[in-house]
Amino acid sequence: MKHTRQREAILRELEAAAEPLSAEELFARLRDGEPAIALSTVYRNLERFCADNLVQRETTGDGPVRYAPARRHSHYLVCTQCAARVKLDGCPLAQLEEGLARDTGFSIEGHSLTIYGKCPRCARKETKETQKA
Ligand SMILES: [Zn+2]
Ligand SMILES: [Zn+2]
Repeated sequence: MKHTRQREAILRELEAAAEPLSAEELFARLRDGEPAIALSTVYRNLERFCADNLVQRETTGDGPVRYAPARRHSHYLVCTQCAARVKLDGCPLAQLEEGLARDTGFSIEGHSLTIYGKCPRCARKETKETQKA
């Protein structure tokens, strides 16, 4: 019973968050709530949710792994230098998924897409350094 309530609280918090959360951020939001949840419990549940495709992992640059509900996922442009993140509008793969499901008969459960590059600031810095050399 206690486990079910913890599980529900973690999922609810992820759904409520506007942005994907790391396990620590999630823990910070849940710490003062009911039921009490340990950081290890947050980790364990997140792993389970990922295995069940309820939650999606988002890895960006050097930052911590963040988690978001799989249904309402987002994609990012990530700077490989400073780890700046830009959220993409919507999901560019939604239509592709529909077509794939139709053509292959797969029941599609999710996908991940992160685009890497250098943000304008880091790109400018690099150009300057190249000119100096
Ligand atoms: Zn950058
Ligand atoms: Zn997507």
